[in-house]
Amino acid sequence: MSSTAPAAPAVPVMLPWLGEEEAAAAAEAVRSGWVAQGPRVAAFERAFAEHLGVPHAVAVSSCTTALHLALIGAGVGPGDEVVVPSLSFVATANAVTYVGAVPVFADVDPVTGNLTAATVEPLLTARTKAVVAVDQGGVPVDLDGVRALVEPRGATVVEDAACGAGSVYRGRPAGATAEIAAYSFHPRKVLTTGEGGMVTCRDGELAARLRRLREHGMSVSAADRHAAAGGAGVLETYDEIGFNYRMTDIQAAVGLVQLGKLPAMVARRRELAARYRELLAGTGARLVADPEHGTTNYQSCWLLLPDGAPDRGAVLAALAEAGVSARRGIMAAHLEAPYKGTARVPLPATELLTHRSLILPLYHALTEEQQDRVAGALLDALRRS
Ligand SMILES: *Cc1c(COP(=O)(O)O)cnc(C)c1O
Repeated sequence: MSSTAPAAPAVPVMLPWLGEEEAAAAAEAVRSGWVAQGPRVAAFERAFAEHLGVPHAVAVSSCTTALHLALIGAGVGPGDEVVVPSLSFVATANAVTYVGAVPVFADVDPVTGNLTAATVEPLLTARTKAVVAVDQGGVPVDLDGVRALVEPRGATVVEDAACGAGSVYRGRPAGATAEIAAYSFHPRKVLTTGEGGMVTCRDGELAARLRRLREHGMSVSAADRHAAAGGAGVLETYDEIGFNYRMTDIQAAVGLVQLGKLPAMVARRRELAARYRELLAGTGARLVADPEHGTTNYQSCWLLLPDGAPDRGAVLAALAEAGVSARRGIMAAHLEAPYKGTARVPLPATELLTHRSLILPLYHALTEEQQDRVAGALLDALRRS
């Protein structure tokens, strides 16, 4: 290779779309002097609930803490079993462990990457208290199918919509039809507040309890206490053990701006994904796509390598050499140390996807030139077989 032309900068796997508007909103929160959970968190909760068309949204510090509270809210505790997909970020299973319950790993549909009524059914027992249905990588899970199976048995379905903001399930925003759903605003997701999460639910009493649990179990929130005549005269009580899972007003200020940009972010991601589909046609690689019952935000634009392709490590190495930062596909919790050997049934689709898929660079500011470079490098890597 000639050394005259400087190498183009590497293409990252993802990049949040943050700008001056978010910077100004964060600065305004700082200048206001109110930086902890306060009026901006309340406004972000209202805007998020309105965006989904759900009655209640409770902002928290991450989706991991959102899932923890959701499982407590669903009444899950020691001795219970919770069916979860192994093919998920490890936080899905860890939240079950936090409440003293046992995660029971279900396989997923090899096309959507999501669990289905058919993969959950064999794992239900008298101890099953809940199922966590994940919108993996943004692909909406078929929630109705899972609920129809699980709810008649008295168990709750919690939707792990960490990746789901901007995805659509049967004409509604993903998570909107769930009894309880949990969202993430980590920078790896489409909408970001740095760190952050949200629990949404339909039941008002549950929402009130989740608000107390995120704030040490306090009967009156610190914000309400300060708002009431300088805090005098309002004595709070601590009726159960809670947590400090609050979001800050600085994060919420950023979240409000990001929520306004969500439609544009999803539209651009879907355009870029469609372009990848054209560029990679004929390689035999299968790119994740919209399921029958909705649309994905392409939070993770993953593809399954074709039979006969080199192993995934070799493909990732070849991409890295070409200045393209791709990632392995979704992890599988049952292959990691804390959960090794605990799977009760074979998980063939999970193992296929976790070993043979990879995530392509996809983000709002990705240019067509960069995308051509990614596709070109991938075509080269696949030809090395
Ligand atoms: C990212 C992710 C989480 C964790 O979200 P945090 O906000 O980082 O805690 C949980 N579940 C799934 C499916 C995720 O992708």
